[in-house]
Amino acid sequence: MSAEIEIHHLSSTRPQEESLTLGKWFRNIWTGLSTALKGMMITGKYIYGVKPVTIEYPEVREQLPANSRSRLFNDAENCISCYQCATACPVDCIYITATRRDSDAEKIKTKDGTPIRLDLHQYTIDTALCCYCGLCTTVCPTECLTHTTDYEFAQYTLGGFKYDYLAPDIREWRTRLVKD
Ligand code: SF4
Ligand code: SF4
Repeated sequence: MSAEIEIHHLSSTRPQEESLTLGKWFRNIWTGLSTALKGMMITGKYIYGVKPVTIEYPEVREQLPANSRSRLFNDAENCISCYQCATACPVDCIYITATRRDSDAEKIKTKDGTPIRLDLHQYTIDTALCCYCGLCTTVCPTECLTHTTDYEFAQYTLGGFKYDYLAPDIREWRTRLVKD
């Protein structure tokens, strides 16, 4: 007796099946077509109407803004070996060695007229340690130390990030980076 009541209860809650009329059939087709068309229109808008957000690197290269803090360059010819950059560096990754110039040596100046009283023997930055904070460039009195917009300087070893700014190959960057 209880099983009969259960069956009766289930059959009474089953939803009524909707009958498909010709009108509904056409409406379903129209809904299918119109939603597909709407999707294609959005796709078309992105293909033809929106500026691409990616570039075909390396064939195409972005130019970084001039004030980017990317690879450091010291134009050693205009460095007065004042150590201010090394003192300001929070990670101590700037290594400088300099000695006082002979008193009878030729008097030389930087391009902004600052006398150069020390001979620079070593100017190295371990850019693997550098956090690109920019403090060293901010304090440089002759503005010979700058961040460049160079961003392609990947290396296979950490040692490759240690730049000796007195080395001829790095001094060559000057022709590209420094506007006299
Ligand atoms: S930018 Fe690099 S080298 Fe210059 S102060 Fe900051 S951490 Fe030191
Ligand atoms: S602050 Fe500038 S001038 Fe002084 S040692 Fe550093 S790079 Fe040279």
